[in-house]
Amino acid sequence: MPEMSRLGEKVIRGIPVSAGVTRGKVLLIEPRREELVKRTIAATELPSEMNRLETSLVQTRKQILDVQHRLSEALGAEEASIFEAHLLVLEDQVFMDQITRLMEKDLINVEYAVHKVAEEYINTLNSIDDEYLKERTKDMRDVVDRILGNLAGQPDRHAIPKLTEPCIIVCEDLTPSTTAGFDRKMVLGFATDKGSRTSHTAILARSLQIPAVVGLQNASRKMLNNQYILLDGFNGLLILNPTDQTLFEYGQLMRKQVDLQEKLRDLHDKPAVTLDGHQVTLSANVEKATDTAAVLSNGAEGVGLFRTEYLFLNRDKAPDEEEQYQAYRQVAAALKPHPVIIRTLDLGGDKVSAVTPLPTEMNPFLGWRAIRFCLQEKELFCQQLRAILRAAIEGNIKMMYPMICRVEELEETNVLLEECKNQLRAQNLEFNEHLEFGIMIETPSAALISHNLAKRVSFFSLGTNDLIQYTLAVDRSNERIAHLYEPTHPAVLNLIKTTVDSAHRQGIWTGVCGEMASEIELVPLLVGLGVDELSVAPSLIPQVKFLIRRLRISEARALAEWALNCESGQQILERSAALARESAPSLFDTQQN
Ligand code: PEP
Ligand code: MG
Repeated sequence: MPEMSRLGEKVIRGIPVSAGVTRGKVLLIEPRREELVKRTIAATELPSEMNRLETSLVQTRKQILDVQHRLSEALGAEEASIFEAHLLVLEDQVFMDQITRLMEKDLINVEYAVHKVAEEYINTLNSIDDEYLKERTKDMRDVVDRILGNLAGQPDRHAIPKLTEPCIIVCEDLTPSTTAGFDRKMVLGFATDKGSRTSHTAILARSLQIPAVVGLQNASRKMLNNQYILLDGFNGLLILNPTDQTLFEYGQLMRKQVDLQEKLRDLHDKPAVTLDGHQVTLSANVEKATDTAAVLSNGAEGVGLFRTEYLFLNRDKAPDEEEQYQAYRQVAAALKPHPVIIRTLDLGGDKVSAVTPLPTEMNPFLGWRAIRFCLQEKELFCQQLRAILRAAIEGNIKMMYPMICRVEELEETNVLLEECKNQLRAQNLEFNEHLEFGIMIETPSAALISHNLAKRVSFFSLGTNDLIQYTLAVDRSNERIAHLYEPTHPAVLNLIKTTVDSAHRQGIWTGVCGEMASEIELVPLLVGLGVDELSVAPSLIPQVKFLIRRLRISEARALAEWALNCESGQQILERSAALARESAPSLFDTQQN
């Protein structure tokens, strides 16, 4: 990596949030500092002010749904769900009531009331020592900005000007709305003074694959429009006036990146097989039918997890059997003869849908979720089972149930499956009599009774996102305890091993479809533990394959054996990472030591 301080050039350090190196001209976006005018209104004006508020809320909701829709088309439903938080602000009745009460009590204009109540909310959230809540204040500002824009009759005022040449955007801060509207061909990267890794703006940058550095303090004030900069999204560096030496070194780095990309492309049709001949299946995780193009272009061997709940989000009415049938059929047809594992509905926990309002629970992740919900909402579940059974004559579909904890749940599900088959027979509708099904292992109880579950299914897929949270009692979405969320905790590894062994004794396979499979540094460990399939985001398939093809199964197994007896999750992580780096150093070239 380049040495960091050179005459004439200035290196500003921030937080790397989206990988990649880019260089180009700066486009400075000045923050809008407008004074909100407080205006006293006559009591007779109140109804018309209320009307303006109503209209602007309807417009704002429509605009957010439009952004969400465009993003969902371009990037997938999961990325688009970022804007759920924005919609929730609009649905917050307490917030809205406070605005109207303030207008009535103080007889003030609607703009000022919206601004005042929002600032109070934001100040309260900011006063809590919680990074996650602080980041959510940005979502609120984004929504409030839209409401105020609509009230001013300037619905597009948050958008950046139309770009005529490629540039790197530098500004104090960026809202998720503005980021979602970026033209990827014109925005080479962005750098902001504020921000953190968990902000929705950062998440969007990663999805859009735009190099980005945030938290650069007051960098935007040290720059001029059209100035030439280099942005290193791997290491969180913004380099002003880069010297020839720096450009040369980064040039080499970028060439290495290009070489690596070429090598990754060459692997497209090759299997994920270790140097000593052990093969692992590499599948992709998808959310919607249009994701299949990325599955094929990245060389996956099928879909290891189709999260069907995304068909149920962002809408008011559940998709009926026919709509689901078409969606599943389309994926199966596009990927034929590759397998597509459709996971049945996993609503609940952090996935809430207006389609089926869930009760407020003290512990939603421990509550009415996934298979528990489906076994009580039988008609909704049966619609999905029938749609999957019918779609399964089209391609190589398999089905998978989430959150299984008990043998009885599986047996109850089988009874329902037989009922659905009978209904389809009665309707003379064609379906796959021999549809294979498996289960997700995402609770410690399932892992510990996996020997019994293995007798009843065709495969297991480890949902490590949940398995880790339930094993370690660490809420997967709570930033405050994120440091305790440890995939390499020996307890987690022992549950994975138990599951793999139960499956193999019964002659069935085990995959991993949680995010643990996407952590490149953990791939040696999972392969060594005997996992047969890894299912990751389509864009990560080439890198995981590249690494597996440079591993030796003997070394991976020795690592896993050692790890199962090791007391420290940190040491296990370090050893697995070291093996990954030694085996495929070029995958890690871009990181500064
Ligand atoms: C998991 O828990 O690892 C998983 C893949 O399921 P989800 O993330 O959808 O809960
Ligand atoms: Mg899960």
